[in-house]
Amino acid sequence: MPLSVRGGGHDWAGRSPSDGGLTIILSGMRRVTVDPVARVAEVSGGATAADLAAAEPFGLTTATGSAGSVGMAGLTLGGGYGPLSGRFGLALDNLLSADVVLANGSVVTTDSEREPDLFWALRGGGGNFGLVTSMRVRLHHVPTLHSGMVLYPWEQADTVLAGLSDVLLESPDELTVQSGVLPSPDGSPMVFLSPTWSGDDTTAGERALAPLSALGAPRASPSS
Ligand SMILES: Cc1cc2nc3c(=O)[nH]c(=O)nc-3n(C[C@H](O)[C@H](O)[C@H](O)COP(=O)(O)OP(=O)(O)OC[C@H]3O[C@@H](n4cnc5c(N)ncnc54)[C@H](O)[C@@H]3O)c2cc1C
Repeated sequence: MPLSVRGGGHDWAGRSPSDGGLTIILSGMRRVTVDPVARVAEVSGGATAADLAAAEPFGLTTATGSAGSVGMAGLTLGGGYGPLSGRFGLALDNLLSADVVLANGSVVTTDSEREPDLFWALRGGGGNFGLVTSMRVRLHHVPTLHSGMVLYPWEQADTVLAGLSDVLLESPDELTVQSGVLPSPDGSPMVFLSPTWSGDDTTAGERALAPLSALGAPRASPSS
């Protein structure tokens, strides 16, 4: 019988339902346990990015995606870019080890030394190498964030995206800018820049964020 796994259920392509097969739904397994001294979180297979709020009281977080409802395992197995990627890499870079049920029913723990091929495959392979029941992820000290959204009309896309590329070449790792296209209320496309400053120095953060509102004539920016 075809088997599929549903973690957060937040997949672009809706890959988790199994047509005529069996879908294993992990939404009941959302526990996150935080070790603030080792800066490691134990994340259950169905936990979402929002469940990592358990690390927040310690000023800690990990590399997640842009939406709280995304499954941490699904995100990590697919790579996982997000607002902290510039500083801490992809979610897969922060995976330390995982407990996995393989297709033959055996349970293994994998990391860079135990079952290293499986560990390599899990980090970006997309999820068909087994069912991750639990994983350990690295946490980082990020007590504050500055984030927002700058919107430009589509007509300025060329200048804005070329300018963004120049800005990023000169920016410190603490600045990550996610960008893309969103519909405006009248349906016309807009370019969005979603910057996040994760550094401790807020003055440096304001300096790093300022050029992003000056790449053209924004329709909306944090200061407008
Ligand atoms: C609106 C939206 C915004 C997004 N934003 C981002 C973003 O900012 N950054 C980013 O990197 N991605 C983003 N994504 C993509 C998302 O990270 C991937 O689609 C991811 O696979 C979703 O994981 P899930 O567990 O929520 O989804 P599910 O549909 O539950 O799972 C998707 C697949 O992941 C595998 N999987 C999930 N959990 C497990 C597990 N415990 N063990 C084994 N396999 C598992 C399975 O193969 C499953 O079919 C976004 C998607 C959407 C819809």
